[in-house]
Amino acid sequence: RAAVTPQYLSGLNPEQREAVETLDGPVLVLAGAGTGKTRVLTCRIAHILSQGRARPGEILSVTFTNKAAREMKLRLGQMLGHAVEGMPWLGTFHSIAGRILRTHAELVQLKSNFTVLDVDDQIRLLKQLLQADNIDDKRWPARMLAGLIDGWKNRGLMPSQVPAGEAAVFGNGRGGKLYALYQERLKILNAADFGDLLLENIRLFREHPDVLRNYQNRFKFILVDEYQDTNVAQYLWLRLLAQAPSSSTSPRLRGEVELRSNSGEGDSPRVEPVERAPHPDPLPVREKIVAPASPPKNICCVGDDDQSIYGWRGAEVDNILRFDHDFPGAKVIRLERNYRSTGHILAAASHLIAHNEGRLGKTLRTEDVDGEKVTVTGAWDSEEEARAIGEEIEELQRAGHKLNDVAILVRASFQMREFEDRFVTLGLPYRVIGGPRFYERAEIRDALAYLRVINSPADDLAFERIVNVPKRGLGDATVQMLHDHARKRRIPLSEAARAVVETDELKPKARGALRDLIASFDRWRAQSEVTLHTELAEIVLDESGYTEMWQKDRSADAAGRLENLKELVRSMEEFENLQGFLEHISLVMDREGGAEDDAVSLMTLHSAKGLEFDNVFLPGWEEGLFPSQRTLDEQGRAGLEEERRLAHVGLTRARRRAKLYFATNRRIHGTWSTTIPSRFLDELPAHNVEITESKGGSGWGGSGGYGPSRFDNVEAFGSSYTTPGWQRAQANRARGQGGRGGGFDERQSPFSSGRGDTGGFSRTKRA
Ligand code: ATP
Ligand code: MG
Repeated sequence: RAAVTPQYLSGLNPEQREAVETLDGPVLVLAGAGTGKTRVLTCRIAHILSQGRARPGEILSVTFTNKAAREMKLRLGQMLGHAVEGMPWLGTFHSIAGRILRTHAELVQLKSNFTVLDVDDQIRLLKQLLQADNIDDKRWPARMLAGLIDGWKNRGLMPSQVPAGEAAVFGNGRGGKLYALYQERLKILNAADFGDLLLENIRLFREHPDVLRNYQNRFKFILVDEYQDTNVAQYLWLRLLAQAPSSSTSPRLRGEVELRSNSGEGDSPRVEPVERAPHPDPLPVREKIVAPASPPKNICCVGDDDQSIYGWRGAEVDNILRFDHDFPGAKVIRLERNYRSTGHILAAASHLIAHNEGRLGKTLRTEDVDGEKVTVTGAWDSEEEARAIGEEIEELQRAGHKLNDVAILVRASFQMREFEDRFVTLGLPYRVIGGPRFYERAEIRDALAYLRVINSPADDLAFERIVNVPKRGLGDATVQMLHDHARKRRIPLSEAARAVVETDELKPKARGALRDLIASFDRWRAQSEVTLHTELAEIVLDESGYTEMWQKDRSADAAGRLENLKELVRSMEEFENLQGFLEHISLVMDREGGAEDDAVSLMTLHSAKGLEFDNVFLPGWEEGLFPSQRTLDEQGRAGLEEERRLAHVGLTRARRRAKLYFATNRRIHGTWSTTIPSRFLDELPAHNVEITESKGGSGWGGSGGYGPSRFDNVEAFGSSYTTPGWQRAQANRARGQGGRGGGFDERQSPFSSGRGDTGGFSRTKRA
């Protein structure tokens, strides 16, 4: 019987085929973007199944996002030509670890119906603990502690394992103790936070070798996508599962040695220090066992060191670089043919990433045509940038392209606002991937709620949303009382509030707080008659303590939220008054309700990992915004290299067209600031790049003279250049100076987008 090559194998190149067919032992596919790593993983599952090497339930496949997991399932069905009976364990680290944890919850002092806390619950709980311990929440904000705990959990550290030096940074050395108390409280509440899904799963495996052995036996094959972005906890979890089930003593793992040495116990195994790159989050020096672990299982990890973009969240690119140490006898396969992008795009991306020093380096080639050059377009400001991109998209549409083939990838989420508004105006369907739409973000909804109450005191929903945000001692009980009053007398909540403060139904403290709030709203309402609505918004955000709440917040996404708030104020400038603005918002919110079939995708670069689109727009390539100033300030050279990898990820998402934009001016608080085009633009090979004129209306006259430093002198562009945009800018500049005055502090630039906006699992957590 002649062997027929199954359909799913026939299209693969020899290296890909080797990666699919090498089923025994550890395999690492270390290869660049678009070389078919994800496709190899999917084929591998198909191959395992069709060879009868395992049943679906014996395969564990880890993806970086839930979306990627869904896609893989879909492709798998297509490859096999039939739906898979019984599903492989296919999902993110957290979803799979969570599933296992639920099955054995009682072994880690939880019940199987435990709740997963969101960030708000988490903060509330931590605040209680701080109060009980007499720790000043102003000096030591609960959110800071939440951030620390999250970081420790990412590194697989239980409370007893947190290095003393790190625990000391919070609450005069009480950080570690608070972490322990927090974990105890979670158990009492039958709850886990997001980080616990993995951490408690690791503890479960360590403390119950029989349970671990059960899963080790079950999972005959393990597959991991985007391995370059795994953090220590994910690594430890994987290592535990990837070991062949051992009867007695299981050898210790790399991370475990580290934990041991932290707790200062003796009995240290023979270890050698491993050199590691400087990390923003100071990890103790890693150590590694010299003796090989027991023969590892059939694990296949794929990744690309040039696409490691989650270092700021604890991902360790070392994990991929040391794969063959961790899994002795690993077969390392490199793929060099890129199937995604045209020649110009691939050349541009490869040339850019070659500026990084800390990389393995790899060759990528394509057999595709050169195609269109990567375009770089300067717009006058972000508004023109959005207009220009909107027009280009409409042009593509007229030429027969589907909107599904178009994506806009931004560095920071605040950039989305301009595009969303533009698309609503144009009637272009769009979807935001990996996060809420701009006006649906929690901080934006909060800010809008304040404005809505000012505009319309009877807006109960808005009032209730912010009555205790930021916290001012008006908790659930107070709100309940207001509701009772309001219902009885058929009056709005804010009126009920007025009535209640005149009685002694509330405790003095709550009464005072409510009275202050009412007075504030009266004042703001009076101001709204005489002040510009943008200024009013700033006053309200300031006086209500709302901005301050986020300024004090040390969690990773706080800075992004502050930028979004600034962007909100900026978006108001385009409207006559508060009323007009709020009407626009309700229109936007309303329109966004339906999920269109064909729509432009809008997302951050972080969320774009693993995806591909025919046409990719990359706006905002300006110094400070991209690379992000904050990342540079905080992480120096390592930060710059991570930003560059992010740029590389962005470019390599494009199949046929990559279109870069920068705005020569960005506006903050009505004050204009001239920007410098991103250094990444200078790092593109001139041969593969074409400078084009903005279609946004002002006719940015960019042509000629594009040497290596062609973008260095923005002033030169600006000076010979007068447009409606420019006039608008002048007018606004004058207005800005008349109002609040003053430039902006470079360090607080809303350009420095930094972290914060990411897709993947943090999204599910913070949604
Ligand atoms: P990334 O690093 O961005 O995640 P990747 O290495 O995972 O990229 P894939 O997404 O698997 O790459 O593949 C990129 C594109 O190339 C996909 O459209 C895929 O279908 C296609 N492709 C991969 N291998 C082949 C092949 N042998 N023949 C034809 N197309 C292929
Ligand atoms: Mg991939």
